[in-house]
Amino acid sequence: MKSKPGTMGISTIAVHAGAMHGTPGDAVAPSLNQSVSFVMDTGTTEQMYTRYGNTPNAEIVQKRLALLEGAEAALVLSSGMGATTCAMLALLRPGDHLISSSWIYGGTHTLFTRELTAMGIELSFVDPLEPRGWRQALKKNTRAIFLESPVNPTCRVLDLASLRLIAKSEGIALVIDSTLASPVNLRPLEHGIDVVIHSATKYLNGHHDILAGAVMGSASFIDEVKQKMIVFGQAPDPFACWLLERGLKTIEVRILRQNENALKVATWCEGRKEISKVHYPGLASHPDHAIAKSMMRGFGGLMAIELAAGGNAAEGFIRKLKLFTHASSLGGVDSLVSEPRFTSHAKLSSKERAAIGIPDGFLRLSIGIENAEDLIADIEQALRASE
Ligand SMILES: *Cc1c(COP(=O)(O)O)cnc(C)c1O
Repeated sequence: MKSKPGTMGISTIAVHAGAMHGTPGDAVAPSLNQSVSFVMDTGTTEQMYTRYGNTPNAEIVQKRLALLEGAEAALVLSSGMGATTCAMLALLRPGDHLISSSWIYGGTHTLFTRELTAMGIELSFVDPLEPRGWRQALKKNTRAIFLESPVNPTCRVLDLASLRLIAKSEGIALVIDSTLASPVNLRPLEHGIDVVIHSATKYLNGHHDILAGAVMGSASFIDEVKQKMIVFGQAPDPFACWLLERGLKTIEVRILRQNENALKVATWCEGRKEISKVHYPGLASHPDHAIAKSMMRGFGGLMAIELAAGGNAAEGFIRKLKLFTHASSLGGVDSLVSEPRFTSHAKLSSKERAAIGIPDGFLRLSIGIENAEDLIADIEQALRASE
């Protein structure tokens, strides 16, 4: 891209940033360099190697991701978990203290409780509903605060303004897993967050066909994450980068459509007697509607419903759905349905799940880019058929 990208719209960045063409004979779509090593110059130690994250397909997507988040730099990794792991290892040393929201992805929870603590990192969980919880958890050695927002699968949205105040006054790094928002709906760096993490498997790629992760932040921090990525072997394959680059082109178009579809589906679901509760931050009934509205451009494509008839009805309902595919993961163009009690929250008892707002009969819907009317008709026929 020739002119200054900072002045451009998000779709223009999504289509062009990082890619270079313009000489007659150049391919319009970037070439896939499916190679682990590249020809070296003599008399230099500089080498391109896939595990170093410096090969052509990784570089394109990293430049694009940095501009999309408004960050100095970005790194693409082999998975969302790889991204979180390398970012936290770059931030924390033995003896440091990490404060984490208790509402986080299951894999992240295991990383923190099992792996980081075993390395001598102190850990405290804070219930985000407890207003003074963050400040009370602070210690002399607190180095970072980690949170996920919006939260999977309850769709709660955390207020970043109060956290920013605490982190700035104490000199603590604020780290967010922003997978559910995508840079189209929220750019956390503009709200005082220092490090943004994504499972690029979800909305960034958007097509259910690659596993990838991303970390965005200052150039010096991203370089430290890169050193961890190299040594722990968490770099992505060139083909995954190539597909991610292609997926990113349509990110704004996809997300705006998913925002619109999810709001229509959620609004319709709220009017049905078979559905006892709808979780979607775009609804006025959602506890975080005001926060989400003030902070986010759109409310996202993830929502959840609770069937009035409970857990037994959920199975019949899923079986009757024709357009929604019963599968884990989220954020792609196809609409998916899943039951957290059998996937992300399978390790908890029914009672423990209910305590964190996920009772039996709770269904997570990842809304795709189909026509909203068809998605609604599908839910309607499945409700009727499973009565
Ligand atoms: C899926 C997901 C992850 C993990 O990402 P992978 O790409 O599967 O490693 C982390 N955080 C959130 C919020 C997710 O949805």
